Amino acid sequence: MQFIDEVKINVRSGDGGDGVASFRREKFIPFGGPNGGDGGNGGHVILIADPHLNTLIDYRYKPHLKARSGQDGMGRGRTGKSALDCEFRVPVGTLIRDEESGTMLADLSAPGARCVVALGGIGGRGNLHFKSATNQAPRQFEPGTPGEERWLRLELKLIADVGLTGLPNAGKSTLISVLSAARPKIADYPFTTLVPNLGVVRVGEEESFVVADIPGLIEGASQGHGLGHAFLKHVERCALLLHLVDVLPPDESDPVTNFQVIEQELAAYSSLLAAKPRWLVLTKWELLPDAQKEPLLQRFATVAAHMQAIYPISALTKFGLPKLTMAMMQAVREIRQTVADSIAPLPDAPTKAGKVKESDDFEEDMDDDLDWDDEE
Ligand code: GDP
Ligand code: MG
Repeated sequence: MQFIDEVKINVRSGDGGDGVASFRREKFIPFGGPNGGDGGNGGHVILIADPHLNTLIDYRYKPHLKARSGQDGMGRGRTGKSALDCEFRVPVGTLIRDEESGTMLADLSAPGARCVVALGGIGGRGNLHFKSATNQAPRQFEPGTPGEERWLRLELKLIADVGLTGLPNAGKSTLISVLSAARPKIADYPFTTLVPNLGVVRVGEEESFVVADIPGLIEGASQGHGLGHAFLKHVERCALLLHLVDVLPPDESDPVTNFQVIEQELAAYSSLLAAKPRWLVLTKWELLPDAQKEPLLQRFATVAAHMQAIYPISALTKFGLPKLTMAMMQAVREIRQTVADSIAPLPDAPTKAGKVKESDDFEEDMDDDLDWDDEE
């Protein structure tokens, strides 16, 4: 079984800058000779695997990844500035395919792994290079080579960051639907009746996490349906579990008793799951008469002392949702940091010392005396 996040992106590297044909012109030097500089190189587009990310969702919002073109060459032998490469971060485990041919280009399975997905163009040579004994005043120059453009498909097997548990009707599916910005595709799931519900929650510009509904696991297990080992493995990798409890169940059962039933099942089913940090989420809060809110919170405070936090929420009115979402993101962030710290650190972004140096020369050149007339 796999949860797959899939996005199509368009990558475009920078063109190489054109070389230039120009001649030296100086007051007392009538035939100064060629001095047309080379064009700078275009930037590559690079994808790099970052252990702090877990979804590809940001690329749904910005599917076009571009690097800049190199600058054209200039007179006085000045080379155009090369464009810096553009690196884009994707989660560890991202597969990169060419969209058109379906060819697999890379599997970024290790943190820091990188793949150049569009090669920058090469800068053309200026006429300075074409000077020879027979041709003292060459007018040739080369244009830069163009960058590359193509469509890619990125695929990622998702790991759930936060698992939701609770009785049927507790409001798990509803919570996922109000929080999530995307529903990943679920492939190869063997149980048609128990399709896990999964959503990607996007927080701010750059961050997101995955929430999975795992009730079927516990309900099914208690009824003796051997549920997918793969699914159990999947949810056991959650960083955090939320236990959802309906505060006013339609069958008039006691929410506190309902809570205890699921807590017992959880412990009986998987010690790994039971050992996860858990938060109690009291759902459909807007249904509860005000006078009953404080007494219920107090009852839960006694029976749920082992829970790390208690959040009353309403999917309907959105009460408590921003606070819960931020707290989940923070918890996920901390867990990811711990994981990232335990594996090899990301290498620093490469510096293009060689290329950038040329642009430093260019700066110095600018301070020279001004008796020049660059272009022919
Ligand atoms: P699940 O079985 O845990 O996935 O529960 P669902 O998400 O399917 O929700 C069960 C029922 O509760 C549905 O009829 C929802 O519309 C309803 N429900 C969910 N959240 C709220 C809420 O915040 N307020 C109210 N009034 N109803 C809710
Ligand atoms: Mg449901």
